[in-house]
Amino acid sequence: MRLRLLAASVTAVVAASLLAAGALPAGALPAGALPAGPARTAGSSSLAATPAVSPAPVPGPAASHPVSGADDPAVLTGEGGPVGREEARASAAKPTAAARGPLGGTVAPTYTPPVGYPVPKPAVPIPAALDFRADYVPQKSCSGYPKPGALLLRNLLMSTYSGTGSYGIATSCIGRGGLSEHLEGRAFDWRVNANVLRERKQAEAFLNWLLADSGANARRMGIMYVIWNSRIWGVYSADQGWRPYQCSGETGCHRDHVHISLTWDGAYARTSFWTGRALTVQDYGSCVVNGSYFAANHSWRAPRPTPCPTWRPLPATDPIFTVIASYANRNVSVHEVGPGMAAVQRILGGEPATGRTTSLTGQELAAFQLRRGLAQTGTITPQTWRSLASYASGGAVRLS
Ligand SMILES: [Zn+2]
Repeated sequence: MRLRLLAASVTAVVAASLLAAGALPAGALPAGALPAGPARTAGSSSLAATPAVSPAPVPGPAASHPVSGADDPAVLTGEGGPVGREEARASAAKPTAAARGPLGGTVAPTYTPPVGYPVPKPAVPIPAALDFRADYVPQKSCSGYPKPGALLLRNLLMSTYSGTGSYGIATSCIGRGGLSEHLEGRAFDWRVNANVLRERKQAEAFLNWLLADSGANARRMGIMYVIWNSRIWGVYSADQGWRPYQCSGETGCHRDHVHISLTWDGAYARTSFWTGRALTVQDYGSCVVNGSYFAANHSWRAPRPTPCPTWRPLPATDPIFTVIASYANRNVSVHEVGPGMAAVQRILGGEPATGRTTSLTGQELAAFQLRRGLAQTGTITPQTWRSLASYASGGAVRLS
């Protein structure tokens, strides 16, 4: 309830702030103009979308969204930590001329939107100082409920831009491959269609405002990266502007929505756009501990001011492998109680290894199996036992 009141005040208050000064045209949209938008009509518009950029491999996080679950090409198959590859891809991004679209660029002037296309108004005065420039911190846990900052952002965008909508915030780990901040409830899919002129201008009004001055407002809002119309922009690589995003289809290429991933500070609405106080230190979230696959759920009460340590495998002498070996030729229901389940929980990593299954264990098991190319049956199969041992040991333990 408090969140709804906050969101309403965002549209109701004319903030005397740096952001709002001169940025909002007269006759801006009324508060509470929430959309009941048309059904999705992928690919049916007569308006041409922005031409697709090079089909070359695209760096950057592979984000996706709740509506299809099929647009994330990242399948984690290697041994080692679950996130290293995506981080490497994000940091290896190289700018190209083709990546510089009409929305972005290396140095963008302070943005003035076209008449009739507002920009978001903060509810509090915004300081001149900027929040920290965020590092890319990918999803590490299964924490699938919407975080408050994501809800605030959703409500703000839908009330600022009439006729646009939501494709959702949080998704379950069940049935999902790859990495996605939706699995932590800190990403929002804003329903706005690049094939519809008015909606494309609405998206561009927001994104141009967000990215101006090397992403000043993205830092204020705690936005980590956005994907729109076959391109991706990250605050951690703001100097590279928009980059190509490898994709196919209207949804996969984000032509029917803008994907917006938040930092943990954005997810908990702690950045200056929401509080009026600029943060200097990033919250890196919870960490994947040695040998485990997921991190524990990250609480707003315990911000982590330093990056996570490098993931390391468990030594092959760890007693957990003896336990796994004793189960390795059995099909074990996820509901079975005992040391085998405790071993599974320790390796999956999202919760205490009690040996007694919770719904989270089931989610994490399904996500592990999906990402490892195993059947998701609710059963720890002999193949799954072997994959768990191999993963946790960094490939050192191979059960016969
Ligand atoms: Zn998304």
